[in-house]
Amino acid sequence: MTDAPLDSPPAPQETSAAPLEWLALARGTLDRVALNRRDEAWLDAAWADPRTRVLVIQEGRSPVTFEPAPALVLVPPDQAPDGDRWLLGVDGDGVAHFGVSGPLPVVEGARPAGLRGVGALLGDQDSGLLTHAVALEHWHGTHRHCPRCGARTRVASAGHVRVCPEDGSQHFPRVDPAVIMLVTDEADRVLLARGPQWPADRRSILAGFVEPGESLEQAVAREVQEEVGLPVRDVRYLGSQPWPLPQSLMLGFTARTDGGLPLRPDPEEILDAAWYTREELRAAVDAGEIVAPGPLSIAAQLIMRWYGGELPKMPAF
Ligand SMILES: [Zn+2]
Repeated sequence: MTDAPLDSPPAPQETSAAPLEWLALARGTLDRVALNRRDEAWLDAAWADPRTRVLVIQEGRSPVTFEPAPALVLVPPDQAPDGDRWLLGVDGDGVAHFGVSGPLPVVEGARPAGLRGVGALLGDQDSGLLTHAVALEHWHGTHRHCPRCGARTRVASAGHVRVCPEDGSQHFPRVDPAVIMLVTDEADRVLLARGPQWPADRRSILAGFVEPGESLEQAVAREVQEEVGLPVRDVRYLGSQPWPLPQSLMLGFTARTDGGLPLRPDPEEILDAAWYTREELRAAVDAGEIVAPGPLSIAAQLIMRWYGGELPKMPAF
């Protein structure tokens, strides 16, 4: 991704708010045909159509073949197990795609895989299908009862709503927004930190959940203040990707802080935090002192955008 010689980091990129170009889990291509979710006749016809394809999922994993390239194994409806059924969308040829939770079909040459293993390797359509299905499986599996009255809810809208039979309340899939921000200082150094549960060589940028009553920009500023004690300015949004591990939406930002203030890591959230120039980060990665985030994450894309290309030894799966 860079023509810079191997012994030096690439030239600094301009600090525009250019969006992130590639996000592993934000590549879905299907038309979600949301208006068809309540059309029972259309849904029945689609399920009866042998061209229809079904992604079977169990505990976040689906069958994947790896030759000639990683691809989901989709089955026709008559080979799908009984189970909750979710309309995932329609492809460019008009073929409907459903997700079903249940025992995985055994397919020669395939093995079960989840988003962490293949989310960055699958093609655009398959990556989107698996991301959508993983999110719905988790939501249905953890939100079976009405939060108002406790009654068992039933699935509606082809898997995108649950309805309470007692009080009629509707419940929609839960997505938790989380901000993740690459903070730079006046010298364009990047702030990297280590979370309390992380391996000794793992570093990433700061992140946190958005709180009720808070804008995304406010969440960025609050999290940086809480985690390392710094004020930030110039908060800019660069892109987002679903992160259904289990139920987040990651919203990527850059932010700047002025020099002169010390880092004051919150020991509850940050084991250590430090500023890195491109040269220092490259040297630390080269020396094996730091393992940067893998390509599945929006963190890796934000770091690469700042760095100006891929870091050495970034895991390529
Ligand atoms: Zn209820």
